[in-house]
Amino acid sequence: MSGEAKPILVIGGGIAGITAAVEAAEVGYQVILVEKDAFLGGRVMRSYKYFPKMCPPTCGFEINTRRLRRNSRITVHTLATVEQVSGKAGDFKVKIKKRPRYVTGACSLDDSIAEQLTSERPDDLNLGMGTTKALYYPHDMAFPPLHMLDRDALSESDAQTLTKVAPAGAIDLTMTDEEIEVDVGAIIVATGWRPYDATKLDNLGFGQCENVVTNVMMERIADPRGPTGGKIVRPSDGAPAVNVAFVQCAGSRDENHLPYCSAVCCMASLKQARYLREHNEAARATIFYIDIRTIGRLEKFYYNLLADANVAFVKGKVAKITEDPGSKDLILDVEDTIAGHKPEQKFDMVILATGIVPNTVDVKIPFELEYDEYGFIDGATDVEGIYAAGCAKHPCDVSRAAKESTAAALKAIQCVNRG
Ligand code: SF4
Repeated sequence: MSGEAKPILVIGGGIAGITAAVEAAEVGYQVILVEKDAFLGGRVMRSYKYFPKMCPPTCGFEINTRRLRRNSRITVHTLATVEQVSGKAGDFKVKIKKRPRYVTGACSLDDSIAEQLTSERPDDLNLGMGTTKALYYPHDMAFPPLHMLDRDALSESDAQTLTKVAPAGAIDLTMTDEEIEVDVGAIIVATGWRPYDATKLDNLGFGQCENVVTNVMMERIADPRGPTGGKIVRPSDGAPAVNVAFVQCAGSRDENHLPYCSAVCCMASLKQARYLREHNEAARATIFYIDIRTIGRLEKFYYNLLADANVAFVKGKVAKITEDPGSKDLILDVEDTIAGHKPEQKFDMVILATGIVPNTVDVKIPFELEYDEYGFIDGATDVEGIYAAGCAKHPCDVSRAAKESTAAALKAIQCVNRG
């Protein structure tokens, strides 16, 4: 049965894709996992902590990488994208393009080699806040555990330095794109999401006011592995952010941007208010909201925060954010709709709760699939043999994405057995 079944292809190596891959492999199925980045982990690896338990995602990731490592049925392709899909349920042919890593993995490298280079690149783990050397180790729990070389960022003189200082055979600057073709019986689409582009929210000052950041940036700022070493400070002057505003529904539930609720950004802001309070007992958070959406047991997290005298909730949609040119403080134009007044409010830093956009908005799966008007794969019209999970399907949190991935793995297993 499972021994004869064709492999299952999983597209996307974030938490949804990893979950689908290990669940299917652990009951005996061959899995090919394709990830476009140099390492697995996706958005979750860029978070500081999960809600509601407030544990770091590295714990869960370590368990998952252990499951990946000890399972020979899973083949992982990083730096890889699916270029073509043809066939039908039970019998798909898939072309995968792999970009070169320029690091062979034949012998180990250490950071002392990278330190001898001058070429730098934006640090994508930290969303471009800070830089890394052109040769870099993505993060301390990277899977696969390999350095990556950004060839575009590498100067010619650094290329020559590498040939002298790297161990023989460790770097291969002649690597090129590689194309591989695989036969699979079913496909799981777990391509995840990206944050809504906050520069489109003209009125909220992102990109114009230095101390307006987004919720995904806040995850990196609060993380000790992040660009500020975990200090919650203002980008303009590095001063501690003591009086911080959170602006909910930044783009979401707005006909001009994302008409839907992004499902997780209320909890993300509540969690980040906790970061702030845990970092500095004098810090104050003010959360400007339309509704607070904390479903199921998450409601308790909200109630706990309501009991904190240094956390204020103001029902009102922020109309505009401007910057005091001298202090770089931020002035919010917002009406408190419950109190019925419009006080001028000044803050050290503002965090925009930007919403979720499926990656399939920009990059479609090269097969005829139905998408809804926002670019999510329409789960109600699953094509036989292709199953979506997590934020490729709709906005959802990690826990729901993992459950849906397990369900998608089961559907894929049924499909390859029929095939
Ligand atoms: Fe707005 Fe909250 Fe929904 Fe996010 S989860 S879109 S902040 S209501």
